[in-house]
Amino acid sequence: MSQVETFEFQAEAQQLLQLMIHSIYSNKDVFLRELVSNASDALDKLRLESLVDKELDADTSDLHVELVADRDQHTLTVRDNGIGMTREQVIELIGTIARSGTAEFVDRWRQAKHDGTAELIGKFGIGFYSSFMVADRVVLVTRRAGQSEGTRWESTGSDTYQLSTVPDAAPGTAVTLHLKPADEDNHLFDYADPAVLRRIVKRYSDFIAWPIRMAAPEAAQSETLNSMKALWSRSAAEIKPEEYTEFYRHVSHDWTDPLETIHLRAEGALEFDALLFLPASAPYDLHMRGARRGVQLYIKRVFIMDDCEALLPEYLRFVKGVVDSADLSLNVSREILQQDRQIQTIRRRLVKKVLGTLKDMLAKDPQRYAAFWREFGQAVKEGLVNDPDNRAAILDVVQLASTHDLDQPTTLRAYVERMKPGQTEIFHLVGEQRGTLENSPHLEAFAANGVEVLLLHDPVDAMWVDMVGDFDGKPFTSASRGEVDLKAEHEQPPAVEEYAELLSWMGGRLADRVKEVRLSSRLTTSAACLVTDTLDASPALEKLYRAMGQ
Ligand code: ADP
Ligand code: MG
Repeated sequence: MSQVETFEFQAEAQQLLQLMIHSIYSNKDVFLRELVSNASDALDKLRLESLVDKELDADTSDLHVELVADRDQHTLTVRDNGIGMTREQVIELIGTIARSGTAEFVDRWRQAKHDGTAELIGKFGIGFYSSFMVADRVVLVTRRAGQSEGTRWESTGSDTYQLSTVPDAAPGTAVTLHLKPADEDNHLFDYADPAVLRRIVKRYSDFIAWPIRMAAPEAAQSETLNSMKALWSRSAAEIKPEEYTEFYRHVSHDWTDPLETIHLRAEGALEFDALLFLPASAPYDLHMRGARRGVQLYIKRVFIMDDCEALLPEYLRFVKGVVDSADLSLNVSREILQQDRQIQTIRRRLVKKVLGTLKDMLAKDPQRYAAFWREFGQAVKEGLVNDPDNRAAILDVVQLASTHDLDQPTTLRAYVERMKPGQTEIFHLVGEQRGTLENSPHLEAFAANGVEVLLLHDPVDAMWVDMVGDFDGKPFTSASRGEVDLKAEHEQPPAVEEYAELLSWMGGRLADRVKEVRLSSRLTTSAACLVTDTLDASPALEKLYRAMGQ
């Protein structure tokens, strides 16, 4: 009765779909995890919305996911009675690539000239479209909570999809896969076989907080396939590493393994559970404005929000996971959360815990720590500027390039331990390029005296090094400053008188370029170098100020 309209997929979406249809990726089972994960998100959203909006006409008495396997038709349906989608949302969410991770995937895939696709799929995940790895036709019927009509979406994964209106659609979303024939050589199992479904759900989706039921036409009663225990509320001792990994993948939408798991249970006056993860690699938008945060907030097992920025400071934005607090109002908004005293206390505890975990990793497993630092060090250093309360803890875990060993970054502690007898300052050179710093004439006298210099070439370095002032009572001093107290300068007093005339001539010629021309003993092979006055801003900082329009 309703008219069927045909739409074209967005170009990137078409490419991705072709990739799925012809996928040689061996782990095709993961399509089910993606569909169940979407269903679970939809149930979370409906429960929250019905708590906040009392007017919403939605039945939340039996929220669940249901798998309907039909061996005769060779179909599998994943159905939820969650929030559902409007027609516009279907077009926006399913017809285009809305997920930032997917856009990045397509980008990388193009750069890689379409090689290494399997690894890329493994790394990024592909959400709903992964259905097309196992199905040659997919039908999605959905009705948004509070709306009277539903929408039917159908596609074979080629360039177009069809939409129509379904007046009597059940609330929520049902995704029906018309399965490709089973072909175990090609890693395609019989996904209409209850035993196969049981195995996959147990493996990937056991912790999902909603019941995942299976209704097989021949069975009288449906069975629940997952244990449903919120992972973070279980004791760490009884959780297997694979369970943590699958949970990480669920919250992070990342398909790799986490680098580190942090499970914290706070009891007493302030009760909360936190299950946090450090990813193995940085997302592409880590250094872009408005990058997504990774921590979800739950209150007494009820999902409240994604990307809860009140729970961790911006410089720890790469941390993923869940915080579940026992006593907050369900009606909180982001604005209220920023002010909330309990949230602030939780945040302080989490920051301490994360920084403590980094310190332990650095001590126990320096190689793994080095991998972490390569990915996230630049973000962590922002904390030296923005989080004065934790500055000392951050300084403890900072890794910096140094003339001591150009291949191996150093900690500040190690620098201090190597300081020459009588050396009281930590010398550093700030600049934009590491190569330029390594070849800087400023280093000559330091090298001649065996004094180590830190090479700071990240944009954020120029900011923190001036703000922080010292480490362990040793001031940070620029190796490009006018008066550097190296032994060499005392040993050979410069022959000022002999060169007085030359110096004053040079000073005159360069009057509008430099403040002063003077003799130096800091150079061993270069003829001249530029230094800044002891009280002037460093060149890098000057540049930064100029860029900020000051
Ligand atoms: P992701 O889950 O990472 O956002 P997906 O490709 O899995 O990416 O899904 C895209 C979007 O489609 C989801 O973010 C969600 O808004 C919507 N969606 C998918 N499945 C459902 C569902 N069962 N119920 C409601 N919305 C859904
Ligand atoms: Mg998804």
